[in-house]
Amino acid sequence: MEKRPPVSLYLVATPIGNLGDLSPRAAKTLEEADFIAAEDTRNTLKLLNHIGVKKPLVSYFEHNRRERGEEICARLLNGEVCALVTDAGTPAISDPGEELVARCHELGLGVSAIPGPCALIAALAVSGLPTGRFSFEGFLSTNGKTRREHLALAAKSPYTLIFYEAPHKLKRTIIDLYKALGDRRLTLARELTKLHEEIIRTTLAKAVSLYEDTKPRGEYVLVVEGRPQTPRQDESSVMQEALNMARDYLEKGVSKSEAVRLACARTGARKNELYRLIAAMDAPKQEKAEKGGDSPCPR
Ligand code: SAM
Repeated sequence: MEKRPPVSLYLVATPIGNLGDLSPRAAKTLEEADFIAAEDTRNTLKLLNHIGVKKPLVSYFEHNRRERGEEICARLLNGEVCALVTDAGTPAISDPGEELVARCHELGLGVSAIPGPCALIAALAVSGLPTGRFSFEGFLSTNGKTRREHLALAAKSPYTLIFYEAPHKLKRTIIDLYKALGDRRLTLARELTKLHEEIIRTTLAKAVSLYEDTKPRGEYVLVVEGRPQTPRQDESSVMQEALNMARDYLEKGVSKSEAVRLACARTGARKNELYRLIAAMDAPKQEKAEKGGDSPCPR
């Protein structure tokens, strides 16, 4: 077996609200590291003051991660030990760290995790939704196309889905989730570990109404039920269900492409096949129209 290199980079999880959640091992690692790389040094300074630790800090965040990452690695290659922290939770999870970890592995530097708070795991655990298999979806992109593609893929997943979102974007995200996934169970885990923690168990449709007049405040994780598993359906019944759904949408005035997209997202049916069925369904009407529509038969 390959010998493991000594640890050069520690990923230290920090509280997501409640300072009491900093583990003794996390505090010891911060104390013993040669320096700390932090997403926002001012925030980390508050944490260090709280535990009475004084340590050199360097900033490591989204926009300086390339150059600063190389500088950090150079110090690690020189034998120093770094503790990486972010503003809250586990580094490298929707937070800076992923690239630095990969670079350390490339350079043969040892990396170790000091596990602790992580909003997605806390939210999943309290959600009341299935925890056995889940899919962490992170933040949805604000770019329309990327967002739609992400949602279309997520809609097919049978696993519990977990999303992060900023409060000012929460309303839009709930609406988009409802449009892409249909009505499903939703748990909103708000302000976890904080004074005003709230676990709101609802559905996507109800949440759309809930936030019509209420402004979301605080931090949220959205935990959404995976695609409901109907008892094993054969392909023809899936297509039939998709066709019925698409017809309903078409009757409501939804465009054909949107009706097909929605029906496929919700049933898992294949788009080409559904277009073919709709065309087949339309064909007799068209033929009739070409032959003179509903005019009475010639006597
Ligand atoms: N790395 C962090 C972790 O391990 O949880 C996540 C960082 S990500 C930039 C921030 C997002 O995490 C927030 O927008 C929110 O969705 C979620 N979050 C963080 N703290 C939270 C809390 N106390 N309650 C609910 N959600 C929280």
